Amino acid sequence: MSQDRLQELRSQVDVINLQILELLNKRASIVTDIGKVQTELGTSFYDPAREAFMLHNLEKNNKGPFSNETIKALFREIFRASMALEEQQAKAKILVQRKSPDQRTVITLPNGAVIGDGSFTVITGPCAVESYEQMDETAAALAQRGIKIIRGMAYKPRTSPYEFQGLGEQGLQIARQVADKYGMVITSEIMDQSQIMMFMDYVDIFWVGARNMQNSFLLKSLGKINKPVILKRGLSATLEEFLYSAEYIVSSGNPNVILIERGIRTFEKWTRNTLDIGGVAVLKLESHLPVVVDISHSAGRRDIAKPLARVAKASGADGLMVEVHPNPPVALSDAKQQLTIPEFHALMDEIADRETAF
Ligand code: PEP
Ligand code: MN
Repeated sequence: MSQDRLQELRSQVDVINLQILELLNKRASIVTDIGKVQTELGTSFYDPAREAFMLHNLEKNNKGPFSNETIKALFREIFRASMALEEQQAKAKILVQRKSPDQRTVITLPNGAVIGDGSFTVITGPCAVESYEQMDETAAALAQRGIKIIRGMAYKPRTSPYEFQGLGEQGLQIARQVADKYGMVITSEIMDQSQIMMFMDYVDIFWVGARNMQNSFLLKSLGKINKPVILKRGLSATLEEFLYSAEYIVSSGNPNVILIERGIRTFEKWTRNTLDIGGVAVLKLESHLPVVVDISHSAGRRDIAKPLARVAKASGADGLMVEVHPNPPVALSDAKQQLTIPEFHALMDEIADRETAF
């Protein structure tokens, strides 16, 4: 008899379980719709006032036997699970996220330079434009090795305000003249939204430096232009933060973003930064955007350029970035890390030799 009673009660519980299951999922799908509206409105998924109101309402209507504390604990779990669902749905929509293994962003520049197509692109040039002669001498060497993208840095974000800050617009004019002479495209670092129109006249690829990676207003503005953007990883930025910064540009309308890993701040002192090569591999896996390895700022020294270039190539990156100067000891910035022209040629030989090695 009591066995039958047990069976019957258990059947009732089974039915209620299914009802709760159905209600939970019904609730979850409504929450998903709420998440969509919140995304449109740009509001946060977490609304503490709304949560407090729901808990208060449950408490008011609770007739037991569960205590108010138990009911609140159970519902808090439901709220957490719902919020996780909203976040998961929002993430699935992230534009820079790779949706299939063969998805890749390939960027073609006006002079035919391509990045992201599976080849290994070298972006190089001096740390800063210092004079016409310095740019011309560098570009002539670069042209010998078929380099198509040159750094034409005219605004330098230096640690100290008393250090060389770049030649400004005059530097961009020099870079443009030299790049045109050798059929190269220019990439140059932009400091502020207000410079976009002026840069449009000189630059083929906009460049956002590490210190500006999280300047969301600048990123959104660069999303509205029709030229590619190089985005460098912030000094202490996580990969997630890095990709969200790229997302600002892409979601504002510009799909052509190139990511540069430039080393992150760690306790290590023998290198200027620590090259996060694992991060490069993860970025290649998580995103369809091209990834380039900066072997200059990540090291801060020229004597390990060759092994870092080999590592960059082996990591599956789409290219590397290295600084080259005709006379590094007298360079106005980053004297310790810029390669001499003979060192640049040796580096190019090294990575060409490795063409089939990996
Ligand atoms: C640069 O590459 O010119 C530069 C300033 O590097 P970062 O922004 O990574 O410090
Ligand atoms: Mn530099």
